[in-house]
Amino acid sequence: MSKHNQNKRLETEIIHAGYDPDPSVRSVSPPIYQTSTFAFESAEQGAALFAGQEKGFIYTRLGNPTILALEEALATLEKGYGALATATGMAAVSTIYLAFLEKDAHMIGTAALYGPSRTIIETELIRFGVRADFIDTSDIAEIKKRIKKNTKLLFVESPANPTMAITDLGACAEIAREHDLLLVVDNTFASPVLQNPLELGADVVMHSLTKLINGHSDVVGGIIISRSQELHKRLQKVLRMSGGTMDPHQAWLVLRGLRTLHLRVERAQENAQKIAAWLEAHPKVAWVNYPGLKSHPQYELMKKQMKGPGSMISFGLKGGYEAGLKMINSVRLCTLAVSLGGIETLIQHPASMTHASVPKKEKEEAGISDDLIRLSVGCENVEDLIEDLEQALARS
Ligand SMILES: *Cc1c(COP(=O)(O)O)cnc(C)c1O
Repeated sequence: MSKHNQNKRLETEIIHAGYDPDPSVRSVSPPIYQTSTFAFESAEQGAALFAGQEKGFIYTRLGNPTILALEEALATLEKGYGALATATGMAAVSTIYLAFLEKDAHMIGTAALYGPSRTIIETELIRFGVRADFIDTSDIAEIKKRIKKNTKLLFVESPANPTMAITDLGACAEIAREHDLLLVVDNTFASPVLQNPLELGADVVMHSLTKLINGHSDVVGGIIISRSQELHKRLQKVLRMSGGTMDPHQAWLVLRGLRTLHLRVERAQENAQKIAAWLEAHPKVAWVNYPGLKSHPQYELMKKQMKGPGSMISFGLKGGYEAGLKMINSVRLCTLAVSLGGIETLIQHPASMTHASVPKKEKEEAGISDDLIRLSVGCENVEDLIEDLEQALARS
């Protein structure tokens, strides 16, 4: 553990957590231990490491100092017992499923869950008898109604992608405790700067590091942070065997991105707040989903459980799908691409892109209408962004 992991304020922890200057050469930036394996001092030491009687590294799939630095940083930021870095965000999701869902188990999930997090249950885990109800988890009464004897997981994404619907995480934690379920929260859209689900009572938190935490649209990765040693050990065992672990160089890049997380989140959020208000007042815009607008149905809940509404906006045009398509084909500064949370502003159409794998009827139930456009606001000058959106709207 780094000496900095001692209850400093979040901005400070983001910069220092997980690493202190290396004792051998005092490098300020963490070394990249680009090695697959570690030499034992003796046969006896090797045996002691495998038996867990001695602390140390054996083989990179089982652990590596550069990866550990990233894991310790994120465990600190999410206020968890421990963290496990994964190759991608989806490796984090499938590790959680593999660890906590058994044959014929039932799960309750947010309907607008990230496309593959939902589809892998419906098309693959169904072969092992796993079933799930994907519902609007912002409706707490509905969650209670769906609980069955074999329900093991309550898997919530809040704010949800791409509808920005917000689920009351404290209320979900209460339900989970009452019914002996695990509450897992996908915190990718908020980042630890804006929301700490473990503090609200969740058992496990996960992120796609690809998004806000790395923040530069140049690495994929994931992380799982657990409330307790027991949950951490269970996930660690499954991850080490199933092999969705991270690479040391990847961990180093994510750590470098992480160090500016609060600056990026604050700037992007400031831009998003202005753009959302501007869109809402625009005569060609039919509706805007942004938790920082008073018109958002869970605006009060956002203020209660988050430190801010973040930088993701979804909206629809009065001209519907056709007008939206023209708009996203007309942007010049915003980039037409999936993914989110990078320093550059991205625009995309979920119904034909990120959520294309979700059947039409289920997309509609989840609020992913054909006219929905998703904007991931970046850190550019906001006037430049508004000018670009204005000229694109003029063409749609
Ligand atoms: C991108 C994303 C994922 C999956 O992460 P990958 O790194 O692409 O595997 C999961 N959840 C959310 C909310 C995401 O945005």
